[in-house]
Parts: sequence; C-alpha cells; structure tokens
Amino acid sequence: MIDFKQLAMPGPVALKPYTPGKPVEVLERELGITGSIKLASNENPLGCSPAVTAAVQSALGGEFFARYPDAAGHELKADLAAYHGIEAERITLGNGSNDILVLLAQALLGPGRAAVFSDYAFAVYPIATAAASGQARIAKALGADSDMPYGHDLDAMAALIDDTVRLVFVANPNNPTGTWIEPDAFEAFLRGVPQDVVVVLDEAYYDYQPEEWRIDARRLLDAYPNLVVTRTFSKVYGIAAMRVGYGLSHPGLADILNRVRQPFNNNAVAHVAARAALADSDFVDESVALNQTGLARLRQGLDQLGLGYLPTHANFLTFDLGRDAAPVYEALLREGVIVRPLAGYGMPQHLRATVGTADENERFLTALSRVIAAS
Ligand SMILES: *Cc1c(COP(=O)(O)O)cnc(C)c1O
Repeated sequence: MIDFKQLAMPGPVALKPYTPGKPVEVLERELGITGSIKLASNENPLGCSPAVTAAVQSALGGEFFARYPDAAGHELKADLAAYHGIEAERITLGNGSNDILVLLAQALLGPGRAAVFSDYAFAVYPIATAAASGQARIAKALGADSDMPYGHDLDAMAALIDDTVRLVFVANPNNPTGTWIEPDAFEAFLRGVPQDVVVVLDEAYYDYQPEEWRIDARRLLDAYPNLVVTRTFSKVYGIAAMRVGYGLSHPGLADILNRVRQPFNNNAVAHVAARAALADSDFVDESVALNQTGLARLRQGLDQLGLGYLPTHANFLTFDLGRDAAPVYEALLREGVIVRPLAGYGMPQHLRATVGTADENERFLTALSRVIAAS
C-alpha cells in the first residue's frame, strides 16, 4: 500500500478541499424535487449578456475546436488594456481569477515563506498558500460588534508582515462577508508594506460597489509596483462556467506569472465569451441595478424576520441566525432553496445568500420564514 500522504508535500496534505455551493441538479437528484433555486455561489441571476451567447454560437465549429487557442490571449488583453487604460504587458489572464491567486502563490511562496490574509477571507487564499507549501499567517478580523463586523483589520494584517512574508491577500469586498475597505485606508496600508511583499487586491465584486468606494487601481498600480489587482468574469459578467479572470500588475511581475501559467490556461471559447461580455456595459449596469433592488428587498425581509446581517457591497448578503445555522440550511434545501453554509469559514451561525431575481428573492424569503416559523 502506498501512503500518498507520505509522498506528498505537507502543505497539500494538510489542506481541506474547497466545498463549492451545491448544484441544483445534485440537490434535485438527492431529494427527488424539481424547481429549486441556487443562491449559493454569487453567480449573476440574469445569466450573461445575449451578446456573449451570440458571439460564442457564431464561433463554434470543427476548425475552431481543432486549433489551440491564442496562448497569449492577445485580443482579450488588448480589449482589457483599452478598458482599464493600461499597458497590455501588465495583464495576466487566468482560468478564473482563482488561477491568478494560485499562480501568485506558486511564484512567490514555498517552504519558509508566508502569506498574510484575514480570518473569514476568501477560501482560496489558504488553499493556494498551502498548495504552494507556503505558511499561512491569519490576521484577526474586526469584531462582530464593530461597524464592519468580520471585516479585514488592515492594522492586524500589517502587524503580521515580517521578512518571511512575500504575499498579502486582501479581498475587497470580501467573500463570504461582503465587507469592504475604505480606499484611503487601503492606500495607507499599501504605503506601509515593504516593496518586496506583493499585495493582492482581489476585486471580484468590483462593479457592485458604490462609485465612491471604488479603489482607483490604475493610479495605485503606478505608485505601488508591488500591487496586483485581480478581477473576474464570473460574477457581474455572468460567465462563471467559462473560467476567465485576470491580474493587473507591474509588467515585471506579469512576466513572472506568465512563465508559471499553463500556456493555454484559457480556452478559445472563453476568450470569445469574455470579449463579448466586456463590450456589453449595459448588461453590467442592468445587473448592478437588479442587485441593488434585490439587496434592499432581502434586507427588508430579514428585518421582518428579526434576523441580523452583515454590511455588504457585493451581490450577496450574509445573515445571522443567532444559533447553529446548519438545520436552517438543511430545511431550506428541502424547500428547494440552496444557500451557502459558512461553518467552514468559522461562522457556524451565519448563512450567505446570493441576491437573485425578484422572483428568486421572494422564494428565498418565503422559504426562510416558513423554516424559521417551523423551528
Ligand atoms: C468568486 C471569487 C473569485 C473568483 O472566482 P473565479 O471564478 O475563479 O474568477 C475571487 N475572489 C473572490 C473573493 C470571489 O468571491
């Protein structure tokens, strides 16, 4: 018998696998029900821009499938460079922004090197760190009764930086909390970080933020060569299945990441889809507007149920059951409503619900009030 845990590096062996939101098909097969809704993975409830579907459909075909994609992703990078007003050499394309986080860890971490991130931060940070055999330094988050409960405490994060640290992950807004950081506070933090520590600003929910809270990454990238900003097409653009994300950084760091990444880490369909998605800003505006209305409705519904929730600038709301949330999660599943349990994040009394369509939000609130009334 081979003991593969003896063979592997200790970092990967110590990892807990990522638990994704339960897919609708899996729930329906398990319970023999139909008509369920999934509000568990922060996907866009409108789907994607019709222009994406049209562009993908017209590209499909034997020749298109037979050829390798453009390994450098020239066309998508050119579009992104124009969109952000930066040089294409600053862009690294990823198979989702998850890929960029992993590439950063692979390039910068290893035995004897550490990454800093917050308690209750995105689950991929510990995974990417351990997979690269780096050490995780986890900062205490802001208190449950602060005005940004469970949010990043940038002072606590700065205090963990020493000369073994090469990477800091900051999610803004953060998942699974929805909490955010003030642009001035982020810049003050950056100013205090040594230049040989790379700071990742993960902006997966960028477009959902009110204008006045958006960090001006373009300006900061010029001023702070150790900054990397990551963005994704999985959330507001509605093409999570395509797996496209990217990093914006100093060209020197992009050059390193481009050496590490698989040459064909984006498939050709994904390139077509992302270009069409980026071009449809009306779809983004419509999605953001739907999210604002939906968030207001969810807050109102939770208020009526007497449940607390965290502040959010994203497309989800994390709410507090005030007791073990697992039975509520299970009961919601039986009502055909999938949300996200957060016990794995150390928040066993909270659940995270993605903002859905108006109909989905009503389904969720009705199911939740039934479940609470019955318990
Ligand atoms: C969803 C998410 C991502 C990225 O997802 P990809 O699909 O890999 O692009 C990155 N960071 C945070 C905080 C997220 O919630």
